[in-house]
Amino acid sequence: MTKEATTLFISIIIPCYNEEQVIRYTYERVHKTMNSFQHGGYELIFINDGSRDNTLAILKELAANDNHTKVLSFSRNFGHQPAVTAGIQECKGDVAIIIDADLQDPPELFPAMIEMHLHENANVVYGMREKRKGETFFKRITAKSFYRFINYLSDTNLPVDTGDFRLIDKHVIEAFKNLPEKNKYIRGLISWIGFKQVPIMYVREERFAGETKYPLSKMIKFASTSLLYFSKKPLKLALSLGFISILVGLGLGIWVITGLLFRPNTLVHGWASMVIAVIFFGGVQLLTIGVLGEYIGNMFEEIKNRPEYIIHEKVNF
Ligand code: UDP
Ligand code: MG
Repeated sequence: MTKEATTLFISIIIPCYNEEQVIRYTYERVHKTMNSFQHGGYELIFINDGSRDNTLAILKELAANDNHTKVLSFSRNFGHQPAVTAGIQECKGDVAIIIDADLQDPPELFPAMIEMHLHENANVVYGMREKRKGETFFKRITAKSFYRFINYLSDTNLPVDTGDFRLIDKHVIEAFKNLPEKNKYIRGLISWIGFKQVPIMYVREERFAGETKYPLSKMIKFASTSLLYFSKKPLKLALSLGFISILVGLGLGIWVITGLLFRPNTLVHGWASMVIAVIFFGGVQLLTIGVLGEYIGNMFEEIKNRPEYIIHEKVNF
């Protein structure tokens, strides 16, 4: 083993959106952990993602008293993934650790993650949830089916039961910075980047305070990004649906023609099958067009080439 923990500069990336109730505790626990083991220096990068509460003021106060603490503040709420992206873009570390602000992921795991990076030559150490405490049955079941579904549909294999809590090293950071796409699904992209990725098991705690910033609407958007940006299967699905409906249409056609030739007096009864066919094909067409529309919409988003986020303020950088 050539690398030593004492030579490693560590960046901790913490996205925050309306986290005034928890952010001081998060700071305390991260700070304490960073002082509990040997390393070659560190920085805490808090990204204020357009919070409407006191989060920014608290972060500035923390930064004023500790120059390890840096703050990136967005001009508005851009979302969790852009916030993490900004942290990765601005970090100086040999390794970076991404962690949620709500203390659901334990900072005390940092030394073990660094250990795995150093001694197992892991380029990525991703947190894998053993259990989900204090999350509603609905959240648990949706999250679980979400990962299974994505994995079924996706072309890239995404580890099940992982969030964005992970350590990434310099190689991965550099590769990530060079990804041109704007709509980022970070855990998928990191998995896609490759190198050596190993899991670290942990128990996901309850949110320390405050409530989830991922209501159902944001979860759906997140799911559709991960699906449509990571997979061409919905397009293939549309194709096979179209194919099946052509077969069904052909079958119906044959039935109608033979009816016309051999059972002309029964033909008026065909009205019901007409309606069924019209509705069925209409549905298939709308579905297929919808799938195409989603992909075209995504291209439109990417082609506009707008920045993923706008930084309003930087503190201690
Ligand atoms: N977050 C963010 N911007 C958003 C939503 C969430 O920066 O628009 C942050 C939030 O402050 C937290 C992390 O992303 O640090 C995860 O959010 P949350 O804990 O609400 O999600 P959950 O754990 O419920 O999936
Ligand atoms: Mg959370």
